[in-house]
Amino acid sequence: MHDIIMQLFNESISKTYDILFKRNYIYHKKSIPYDANTFYSATGYKIAYLADLDNFPFRGLVHGSYSINDKAICNKNSCDFLSCNCGFYAFRDKKRAVLELNKHYGALMLEVELYSEIIIHEFGYRSKEQDVIRLFLPNKCSKFLCKNNTAGLFLKYNRYQTICTAHKNDYISIRDLSNKLGLEVLVLSYNI
Ligand SMILES: [Zn+2]
Ligand SMILES: [Zn+2]
Repeated sequence: MHDIIMQLFNESISKTYDILFKRNYIYHKKSIPYDANTFYSATGYKIAYLADLDNFPFRGLVHGSYSINDKAICNKNSCDFLSCNCGFYAFRDKKRAVLELNKHYGALMLEVELYSEIIIHEFGYRSKEQDVIRLFLPNKCSKFLCKNNTAGLFLKYNRYQTICTAHKNDYISIRDLSNKLGLEVLVLSYNI
């Protein structure tokens, strides 16, 4: 046991260190070399749609939806997490996630904290549990040909998409969105 972590855990200073304590990483055969001393936490970035502001607010690009703090549910009768494909996926690199965001109209980017069991792959992670930490919005209005900056989100085709002050009509502001979700909401600082 790492002394400083044990000390922090005993003092129960914060939830963060509590989570840190129970993390259990698994080195995947196909992944990059894993150094047990390096990884105390895993922060990842992923692309999602926001379809609902109440229950299970985030929807994956392909399937599945999850809330801000969630545990993966496997649909197999017996799950060997190492060889299974269930769980939460996230990129390690923020820039790679932004490139992916660029390909999916109406999508948003999440910063997530992964824990419980984590498989470390070359470009990302797969974990059994996930907390959404921050929400990143594309910096331009999603209206066709509009180049104005994002002021908030509006619901279109079952997805909350970015909107500017010129086009805002029945929208939720960044501040209201942040309060509603209980998350920090940031606008990406570069063009995508
Ligand atoms: Zn599984
Ligand atoms: Zn606009």
